[in-house]
Amino acid sequence: MGKMIGFQNELIELYHGELKTDYDIKRLTTWKIGGICKYIAFPDNEADLLIILKLLKKYNVKYYIIGKASNILFGDQYFSGMVIYLGKNFTRYNIKTENDIGIIKVLSGQSLNKIGKIAKENSLSGMEYLSFIPGSVGGALITNAEAHKKSIGDLVVEVKIVDNGEVKVITKEQCGFKYRSSIFEKNDFVIIEVTLQLKRDQQEDIDKRYEEAKLFRMEKQPKMPSAGSVFKNPDIGPAGLLIDQAGLKGLKVGGAVISIVHGNFILNEELAASADVIQLINIIRNKINDYYSVNLELEIKIFNN
Ligand SMILES: Cc1cc2nc3c(=O)[nH]c(=O)nc-3n(C[C@H](O)[C@H](O)[C@H](O)COP(=O)(O)OP(=O)(O)OC[C@H]3O[C@@H](n4cnc5c(N)ncnc54)[C@H](O)[C@@H]3O)c2cc1C
Repeated sequence: MGKMIGFQNELIELYHGELKTDYDIKRLTTWKIGGICKYIAFPDNEADLLIILKLLKKYNVKYYIIGKASNILFGDQYFSGMVIYLGKNFTRYNIKTENDIGIIKVLSGQSLNKIGKIAKENSLSGMEYLSFIPGSVGGALITNAEAHKKSIGDLVVEVKIVDNGEVKVITKEQCGFKYRSSIFEKNDFVIIEVTLQLKRDQQEDIDKRYEEAKLFRMEKQPKMPSAGSVFKNPDIGPAGLLIDQAGLKGLKVGGAVISIVHGNFILNEELAASADVIQLINIIRNKINDYYSVNLELEIKIFNN
């Protein structure tokens, strides 16, 4: 306990950003699932983020980094460590346009949605389809988020990270972007800032693609709380289709249900517990393994479980 008092005292002394205690995480997750966490910080600049990371290391306090919490299953039980939530205040950006190119430098918590709007307002193309993914740009890098075959990695120039306490800038090539994967998946880097390069295009073409992407989401995406696709697509085909063919659509456990619309979405229909979702995940994995001898890999991250 002494350790946590020391941590808290130094945190209050050194960290100047927004901080809350005993915070209900389900207020932030798109799944509307998650328990209470002891500390949650909403830093708005690099210096404050680095102070927090230093103290977490010094006092060996467990923590999770969250962008917009749109790809996370957070456990229901009390979490006695810290959540660093970047999707609220860690959002500053600047934009430079030159000839046919626009460079956006943005803190990692900024939403893809807002970056898409900024791009559109500046007649820059590249973000139209990605704009409707409800995540932050930092979170998007982890799984190289993709929509309509356009992935965030394609736009990256460089990324500023914290690697074991040290701030570094790495190039796109070093990020190792692949289908639903990057080096950020396997390393404990904290992404500070992302530099994206976009191309100038005709405003009406950009607007058209943007509206097309918006319409697609409205028509094709389940409306109830979810975290998007739960599993990565295996080589043999889309996970949603396999789940459908295995007859699992509509299956319920507690308050969670496998979407009728999209087999790779698990929906929080009514006050689902994290355990309900985990049970559905296990049922799906077992059945898909029996049917197709394929191990479905998770796209979502499971925290505090
Ligand atoms: C309705 C819906 C539709 C979706 N559609 C798509 C889609 O079309 N395509 C797609 O690819 N995804 C989709 N998703 C999934 C999700 O939105 C994306 O994966 C998104 O990029 C996650 O970003 P986030 O900020 O919410 O990440 P979070 O959920 O907050 O975090 C995900 C992971 O990233 C890590 N992380 C976040 N920020 C940082 C950082 N700054 N530094 C280090 N690690 C960090 C977290 O620790 C965690 O491991 C969808 C989700 C929903 C709910």
